[in-house]
Amino acid sequence: MISLKSVSHEYPGGHRIAFKDWQINHGDQWLLLGESGSGKTTLLHVLTGILKPSAGEVRINETSIYGLSSKALDQFRGRNIGIIFQRPHLIKSLSITDNLVLAQSFAGLPTDLDRVNEVLTSLGIANKKKAYPNELSQGQLQRVSIARAVINKPELLIADEPTSSLDDKNAAAVLELLLQQSGINQATLVVATHDKRVKDAFTNTYELA
Ligand code: ADP
Ligand code: MG
Repeated sequence: MISLKSVSHEYPGGHRIAFKDWQINHGDQWLLLGESGSGKTTLLHVLTGILKPSAGEVRINETSIYGLSSKALDQFRGRNIGIIFQRPHLIKSLSITDNLVLAQSFAGLPTDLDRVNEVLTSLGIANKKKAYPNELSQGQLQRVSIARAVINKPELLIADEPTSSLDDKNAAAVLELLLQQSGINQATLVVATHDKRVKDAFTNTYELA
């Protein structure tokens, strides 16, 4: 489904990271492991079309993504890739429902409130649908981030250190939800972390030196 071939990236200033080749098959659940500064976020950005690497090729379902126009790439990302960041990035002036509707609209999809309710229910936060982000706890906000990432049923679900700002109980819950949501939505899952608490839940690991 995704292949990474001979990819390396050099930031202005000369810091260069070379990535070993990687083949991710449809429905796989991968852990991307590496110390802080090893290049996890860089690699996730490269995989999801956010950062064009200085060399090499990234293919998603046979499409060489950096060959697309930027408009085509934006829409491809909105429809096919859901991203969960370390800290939730939600729009504070919009309710939880409207944050999710906005994600539908960004992908060029019609508003689908049934889907919003379905996702919030499966994440156990349907009672928060009219609330605003600042009325939720950190763990609830991370659930909304997951909701937003899966709302358009992406084929690829990516999470960048989703548990590192959470306590053990919330970290375990968020991990469970990611695995469950990738299963329900038949999405491929890649979770980047340096959090050793996460390791046991995955069979596939890609390690950065
Ligand atoms: P990780 O997510 O594993 O902590 P990053 O991918 O964020 O690692 O960073 C990898 C390396 O690239 C680090 O040494 C970092 O300083 C460097 N780096 C990241 N972003 C930039 C940037 N925008 N400009 C220059 N160097 C960067
Ligand atoms: Mg990072």
